[in-house]
Amino acid sequence: MDLWFTEKQTDNFGITAKVTKTLVTERTKFQDLAIVETVEFGRMLTLDGMVMTTVKDEFVYHEMVAHPVLFTHPNPRQVLVVGGGDGGVIREVLKHPSVERAVLVDIDGRVIAHSKQFLPEIAGWLDDPRVEVIVNDGYMHIHEHKNEYDVVMVDSTEPVGPAVQLFERGFYAAIHAALKEDSMFVAQTDNPWLKADLMRQVQRDVSEIFPITRLYMANIPTYPSGLWTFTMGSKTYDPLLVDESQIADIPTRYYTPQLHKAAFVLPRFVEELKAD
Ligand code: SAM
Repeated sequence: MDLWFTEKQTDNFGITAKVTKTLVTERTKFQDLAIVETVEFGRMLTLDGMVMTTVKDEFVYHEMVAHPVLFTHPNPRQVLVVGGGDGGVIREVLKHPSVERAVLVDIDGRVIAHSKQFLPEIAGWLDDPRVEVIVNDGYMHIHEHKNEYDVVMVDSTEPVGPAVQLFERGFYAAIHAALKEDSMFVAQTDNPWLKADLMRQVQRDVSEIFPITRLYMANIPTYPSGLWTFTMGSKTYDPLLVDESQIADIPTRYYTPQLHKAAFVLPRFVEELKAD
């Protein structure tokens, strides 16, 4: 009998993937976790029935969370990742030699433990000496830290369960306080096809708190609609003013200096969701 994993992205739409093996399932304190082997996208981590990452397409998301903001900030040394328990964003952050300390705060230690065991090509850098792993609510951590970080990255699940607060205006205001004077943040902000209202709201909230607010996109086939967005809020530096010729050549498979700029060029229906 064939086994298929199906994610209902809305009540009326979804994706399905043929599964050859179930590696682990666990009901954690916060969510239903599973790691399965799929035919088309390799190993796949799911939380509460939603795809979090797959070995085949994870590089797109992790590179596009990390590099646009780290190449916009002139000297990012103290970096915080909220969520991100699979370790993929941390792997990309460590490609930047200026980074002295990369803090990961995920609410669910079981995501970290299972990712280390079953997704070493993604989570294998979490034991790097520059990395500090904290199991805590990212909402609390941000409120408890002031003027500490150069860059904050929010790699959370969609706004369900423990992540609901991570899409609220109060959280973005607290990120502003946790950031140093001339610093910036980026957050995954879902997709324009199925979550346009959420994107519009986040864009509006961030633009009321940060002088510079930007929106960019990437293609992630296993995420809802395949078209994913990221919102950047910055106190000083503008990603659109980055000199591409100054972007260092690091090993990547999606992000390039040219794509750094191209990712901010949006189709009209997405442009209309932007704050400005
Ligand atoms: N890239 C994926 C996406 O865009 O859907 C997210 C991957 S990452 C595994 C998401 C992580 O966010 C999970 O490990 C989850 O435990 C964590 N998370 C959810 N709410 C959180 C909170 N309030 N504080 C810290 N981490 C949280």
